[in-house]
Amino acid sequence: MKDMVSRVFSFDMKTGKAPASDAVSLKRPLSALKKIFSDQQAADAILANGDPMVYEFYDLHMPEKEGDLAFGSSIVYPGTVGNEFHMTKGHFHTIIDTAEVYYCLNGYGMMMMESPEGAIEYQEMRPGQAVYVPGRYAHRSINLSHTETLVTFFVFRADAGHDYGTIEERGFRKLVVVEGDGYAVVDNPSWAGA
Ligand code: MN
Repeated sequence: MKDMVSRVFSFDMKTGKAPASDAVSLKRPLSALKKIFSDQQAADAILANGDPMVYEFYDLHMPEKEGDLAFGSSIVYPGTVGNEFHMTKGHFHTIIDTAEVYYCLNGYGMMMMESPEGAIEYQEMRPGQAVYVPGRYAHRSINLSHTETLVTFFVFRADAGHDYGTIEERGFRKLVVVEGDGYAVVDNPSWAGA
């Protein structure tokens, strides 16, 4: 890390946004994510009338080197597609046994986690709570609020890398769906793993 210099990044705690001078967010509108939702007809119906932003996150382009830490903010906007809440794609780390911390700054959500062997963990997130995502667990943020933006700040080993493909192919074993005023965690009927 001898070529690193110290830096300060600002994030608005309510919106998760960084000033444009610090970083630019990567945006994930529904059109870019449609396949992660189980109800494709519902997704098509929404897309017929526009392309809502599901989530965005700040990639600070820090060096992806062993010994460094990568960090930023994740912003999941409220909404549903069919009976599923807005959520991130979810991923394993390429160096799979690397952990991550998500600290909730705003809103109300869930971190869904699963290991390759099928162990499931999920934790609700509210402002002031930090979720520890153990190494080997795929992880996805889900906004459980119908009105508030879920904002988290994350930190992980900078060279961990992202494996989105495994989840794109298989999905998660569990879905989180609207049930009354709350949610239910149910089996994913189209989970495509072994
Ligand atoms: Mn991660």
